[in-house]
Amino acid sequence: MTELSEMLAKFAAYSPHVDPTALELAWDFAAKAHANQARASGDHYLSHCAAVADSLLEWRMDLPTVCAGLLHDTLEDTPTTEAQLRAEFGEEITMLVAGVTKLDALKFESRDEAQAENWRKMLLATAQDIRVIVVKLADRLHNMKTLNFLSRDKQKRIAAETMALYAPLAHRLGMFKLKSELEDLSFSYLHQEEHAELSDKVGARLAESEKQLAAARAAMEKVVAGTNIPCRILARTKTLWSIYKKMERQGKPFEEIQDALGIRLITDTVADCYALLGVVHTHFKPVAGSFTDYISTPKLNLYRSLHTTITSPTGELVEIQIRTEEMHRSSEYGIAAHWRYKTGEHVKDAHLEEKLNWLRQWIEWLQDLNSPREFLDSLKTDLEFNQVFVFTPAGEVKVLPSGATPLDFAFAVHTQVGFACVGAVVNNKMVKLDHQLKSGDICRINTKKGSVPKKDWLNMVRTARARSKIRHYLRERGIVE
Ligand code: MN
Repeated sequence: MTELSEMLAKFAAYSPHVDPTALELAWDFAAKAHANQARASGDHYLSHCAAVADSLLEWRMDLPTVCAGLLHDTLEDTPTTEAQLRAEFGEEITMLVAGVTKLDALKFESRDEAQAENWRKMLLATAQDIRVIVVKLADRLHNMKTLNFLSRDKQKRIAAETMALYAPLAHRLGMFKLKSELEDLSFSYLHQEEHAELSDKVGARLAESEKQLAAARAAMEKVVAGTNIPCRILARTKTLWSIYKKMERQGKPFEEIQDALGIRLITDTVADCYALLGVVHTHFKPVAGSFTDYISTPKLNLYRSLHTTITSPTGELVEIQIRTEEMHRSSEYGIAAHWRYKTGEHVKDAHLEEKLNWLRQWIEWLQDLNSPREFLDSLKTDLEFNQVFVFTPAGEVKVLPSGATPLDFAFAVHTQVGFACVGAVVNNKMVKLDHQLKSGDICRINTKKGSVPKKDWLNMVRTARARSKIRHYLRERGIVE
């Protein structure tokens, strides 16, 4: 178990100017409140609180959040009241703990409407303060790590819930490291045999792939050393779940999966990212069509990096990601990486604001949806990460979920464009409004003054935004309920 002294040291390392007294108080409070409780593992309950707080420290969350991590189960599992917490820790920490407690009350056991409605309420309530979700994610991570002590039924239910909702939520918040951990843990319970088998096979191949990776890395180091660009090189390993998904996608056994090696080049500025890309492409043969620029066009969750695949001198494919230190931290920790301290105050940076705005806006759209079922469908669609990049005739890019149609695109451009949409031209060809857009498409929307949304449009859109705008319009006129 992480001890208080270690926590204080970790916290001081990233926020030296903040008085950590509250952390000590929260530790003592949690220790007393849970004094007679044990986890299913037999461990003292405090070890769970400490593990949750420890993740929050790893993500460098602020003091109230780390305290809330220690206290997150006090309201639910002990006689502690909100009034007591408020007297001891003040409004902010109490509000965070109360938020997590409300989430805990929701169990996503079945996909029925009542559960969907609970999830909707949860997201609406917590969107006010994203830190509640971050604490909940830390809680879920530790619960997944200690799942082996529960019954097989519970393991399956909790793993399914984690895979369906918490891993996508982590992905949405750009917390890739957490997302991968949650996925691999869920995978091991949902598909026990496949997981064990794949784990053995990957292990057996490890020695060989490590040798290849070392060679590729050495070749890269040599090339980069010849430049003045500051750069550190990291080797990257694939998660079991991502390999498994690739096998499913390609319908091939592990033996036939071409396991591309992964290398990351981490440098200091955006300009140096592009300079490194030039160096890499000069010395190694790039695979045609493999280059993607997520710096000029960040993903919806604001992930940024340059991606390219090259052939190594020994003939292996090597996937390369090039990014700055800041992008790297951000890609591992996502939204959590954007909390910053300045003499005890939060300074939210532009990326964090952007991410939070995205979340708030998303939830606003979801709020307009009529039935919980519809909400659930939208949630799942919007949490999918297959995205398409579609351009306006003026060259502006719109990022949409895969399967999006010209109607989604029209509403992404402007609500009024969506309302008055009568047709679409994609790559100079007329298409139907339910046509599926692809990345790189150039889409022009034809509008007609006085034209209005039709009821069947609801079946043609994939984004929550378009659906909510159309429904809102139809409902106001009594066309749908
Ligand atoms: Mn808990």
